[in-house]
Amino acid sequence: RAMVTARKLQGLSSDKRSPGQSKAGPAMRSLFTSLKNGMQTMVDALVAQIPESARRTSTPIDAVKPESGKWLVEASGRTVEFDGVIIATPAYLAAGLLQSQIPQLSSELEQIRYSSSITVALAYDEKARASLPSGFGFLVPWAEGKRIRACTFVHNKFPNRAEVGTALLRCFLGGTRDGEILQLADAEIAATVRRELQEILGISAEPSFVKIYRWPRAMAQYTIGHKGRVDRVRQIVSAAPGLALAGNAYAGIGIPNCIRSGSEAATKVITDLAGGAAARAHGLIAPSRGRN
Ligand SMILES: Cc1cc2nc3c(=O)[nH]c(=O)nc-3n(C[C@H](O)[C@H](O)[C@H](O)COP(=O)(O)OP(=O)(O)OC[C@H]3O[C@@H](n4cnc5c(N)ncnc54)[C@H](O)[C@@H]3O)c2cc1C
Repeated sequence: RAMVTARKLQGLSSDKRSPGQSKAGPAMRSLFTSLKNGMQTMVDALVAQIPESARRTSTPIDAVKPESGKWLVEASGRTVEFDGVIIATPAYLAAGLLQSQIPQLSSELEQIRYSSSITVALAYDEKARASLPSGFGFLVPWAEGKRIRACTFVHNKFPNRAEVGTALLRCFLGGTRDGEILQLADAEIAATVRRELQEILGISAEPSFVKIYRWPRAMAQYTIGHKGRVDRVRQIVSAAPGLALAGNAYAGIGIPNCIRSGSEAATKVITDLAGGAAARAHGLIAPSRGRN
């Protein structure tokens, strides 16, 4: 067994070892975890689980209203009735959807603040990559007076996401102190990032591509009073059978937190519906009118 282990370790030569893996061997997991072909694969997998006849994507909802133990969902002038609804939009949009019927919940939700950010991906050739330091990237303290807040060396962090031998840098800008950056034109953002990368990394090569992604009001901020606010939100929602909220606004920003939030929302609605079915069977909830 020791020989097999030794061979396995030998097989993991330094060039085969991923940057997140230590010399301790293959049992060590990378510091970073993601989906091999990008986060979109998770959304695609989830969508594929729902029969086509039962899903409507790219259909912005205008309002969600409780009525006679059901939930009316309005979209593009059409109203459809559901037993349960999970609202997984950012909190300020959930506030708008619920405003007309549950104003107290809406006013709690709209107090949850968000920050905006921009990511800029820049690809470089082998020569430029050779000039870069090793590591996974860097953070920039506010006191440095730069607009780049952080930069990830994607070619080291997730090697399969960059062409072999090339460099892929992903810079983060914006955040709570620099939301105005979203007002700049793409050309200005690209020029700022390239200038600052030259100052920080000494990289002046022409990137083979620059891609800019804007994330307006995407990151919930847990400001003072957040816990109390979320407790009040939970209290109101718990008294609304068939309704649940999910997303990064409540109990964690990261993807694992959002997955947990979604699972909890689904559990709440399923539990409510089981209770509701029992209540209807006992005549406690009036049957709703058909609308479809
Ligand atoms: C730049 C950036 C980098 C990040 N990096 C990481 C990371 O490395 N690791 C990590 O764990 N987390 C990361 N996060 C955090 C994480 O990605 C987010 O917190 C998470 O994706 C938020 O998920 P969500 O479902 O709450 O919101 P969203 O993903 O914003 O989903 C909200 C959905 O609501 C929909 N919607 C809005 N209005 C309506 C409407 N009227 N009707 C119907 N649908 C509507 C939108 O189309 C959208 O699909 C990052 C976030 C950002 C912005």
